[in-house]
Amino acid sequence: MELRVAHLYPDVMNLYGDRGNAIAIRARCARRGIGCTVRPVAIGDRFDPGDADLVLIGGGQDREQRRVAPDLLARGPALREAVEGGLPVLAVCGGFQLFGHRYVDHEGGSIPGIGVFDAETRHPGPAADRCIGDIVVETRFGEVAGFENHGGRTYLAPGQEPFGRVRLGYGNNGEDGTEGAVRGNAIGTYLHGSLLPKNPVLADWLILAGLRRRYGPAVELAPLDDSAEERAHAAAVRAAERRARRPSRTA
Ligand code: GLN
Repeated sequence: MELRVAHLYPDVMNLYGDRGNAIAIRARCARRGIGCTVRPVAIGDRFDPGDADLVLIGGGQDREQRRVAPDLLARGPALREAVEGGLPVLAVCGGFQLFGHRYVDHEGGSIPGIGVFDAETRHPGPAADRCIGDIVVETRFGEVAGFENHGGRTYLAPGQEPFGRVRLGYGNNGEDGTEGAVRGNAIGTYLHGSLLPKNPVLADWLILAGLRRRYGPAVELAPLDDSAEERAHAAAVRAAERRARRPSRTA
């Protein structure tokens, strides 16, 4: 078997190690003897989501988001259709924001998104505190740990499923306890870190969703020795717990 990963704008949307998500996916496939190709998709590249088994997009500062948005917008209809057809996606932070309807940036400029998630993000302006720190989220994949650094606050429309509930940290907006969003096999989240190396259950869920969409529901993944990943996960949770014990913060 082979997993075809499309990595959108890896040269532009790659904050706080998000490239590590592609590295983790490829490594977890290789350890099982599963082929994995990671194809970078740059602005202007030809790309058919039907040729991918998993799509990744990382985070970016407002100016990077403005730079990629027109190209991503043109890919919106095909990506929405592919997600409706079960395409797994991991969209992190700035990428997550652009997979919503729009992101109103720190200067009040509206950057249009592609509406995979029924969500909107608004930056409260440069005077507002950023949502920065270690974060732990309870999700249907179990406990997920990572690092967040965003100014934008994301608000989910009624009926839009969150990725999870914040146990420690800010999450979507520091107000309603939600983090990220899920539609089908597409996951949006604020968690950098990078996310997947220290959350192996989530990494494997994305791999399995991609392989089953291509090879059928009988596909299974052999278990791996995840002792190193679990140590990294526990360290991230401890970091979030230490931060939570510090004086309170405002979102
Ligand atoms: N520029 C966006 C914000 O500040 C996203 C940041 C990011 O991707 N880390 O909210």
